[in-house]
Amino acid sequence: KAKKNISHNFEYYCPEMEEETADRLAMLRTLRHDFAQDKLQLWYQPQICLKSRQVIGMEALLRWPQQGGGFVSPAVFIPLAEYSGLIVEIGAWVLQQACMQVQELKRQGFHGLRIAVNVSMPQFRSPHFVESVIDCVNQFQIKPELLELEITESVVMDDPKIVISALKELKSFGIKVAIDDFGIGFSSLSYLQQLPLDRIKIDRAFVNDIEKPNGSAIAETIINLGKRLGLSTIAEGVETTAQERVIIGMGCDEVQGFLYAKPMAKAELLQFIQQQKK
Ligand code: C2E
Ligand code: MG
Ligand code: MG
Ligand code: MG
Repeated sequence: KAKKNISHNFEYYCPEMEEETADRLAMLRTLRHDFAQDKLQLWYQPQICLKSRQVIGMEALLRWPQQGGGFVSPAVFIPLAEYSGLIVEIGAWVLQQACMQVQELKRQGFHGLRIAVNVSMPQFRSPHFVESVIDCVNQFQIKPELLELEITESVVMDDPKIVISALKELKSFGIKVAIDDFGIGFSSLSYLQQLPLDRIKIDRAFVNDIEKPNGSAIAETIINLGKRLGLSTIAEGVETTAQERVIIGMGCDEVQGFLYAKPMAKAELLQFIQQQKK
């Protein structure tokens, strides 16, 4: 059954592909098994407001522990989960964990910290997606504006109608929307107007090149575009104070990157936030 699900993505046949397909199927089987055994983890990377220098939220990032230590890269297993459709179940679990995390932080006395969750295309296509997100927010009694969904340009372009209508519904409920990895995809700028966006996430490729003329031109243009459209901007992948200086000069609102904190497990996140408060 799994084979049928995955094979339709390969239009041409060659022996290497068959080998690769077998590897991917084996990995998918392990992923399915580990997910069922509750072995996936949700980690969190703090997001910082440049004006107040305070943690204002976090991005939830999936971690799949490997046997013998280390983690399988999300860049490897997320696409697999997407092709197979498993991301629908995993994504529902991620949303639950994320909402539970906000509830828990509130209990610890940290109100108003928002959580950003990555959402894939198969989730938008799955029945009752909008309802399930709203149910989750209600179940954990969190303010809807503390949940932010991150979508990439490729998700928007895959089926703009479905995505825009789902996001509009979620937005009217109070949930926030950010466009992720902005600038590396090929979305039409006209969709920026149609999407109910709150935030633009500048892809870390431009942040990485921000001290070069081209990278800085693109980052600055995105920040200005955000300002003109009334959207908040956040720079991803900030690693050095030199990059931070340039980003502050451009008037970016928020940052996320190894300079401030790497993604971390729940317990470490709480410690990090408590430390910051002092
Ligand atoms: P993303 O949503 O763009 O997440 C940001 C990625 O940048 C994360 O990689 C994070 O660890 C990394 N990062 C953050 N700051 C820095 C930095 O300063 N330097 C460098 N080099 N990297 C930095 P990660 O955790 O490996 O995730 C990769 C991608 O996998 C994510 O990119 C997202 O597209 C996807 N992903 C992760 N978790 C989920 C999930 O729960 N659902 C879905 N659908 N996709 C997810
Ligand atoms: Mg993201
Ligand atoms: Mg990103
Ligand atoms: Mg990405």
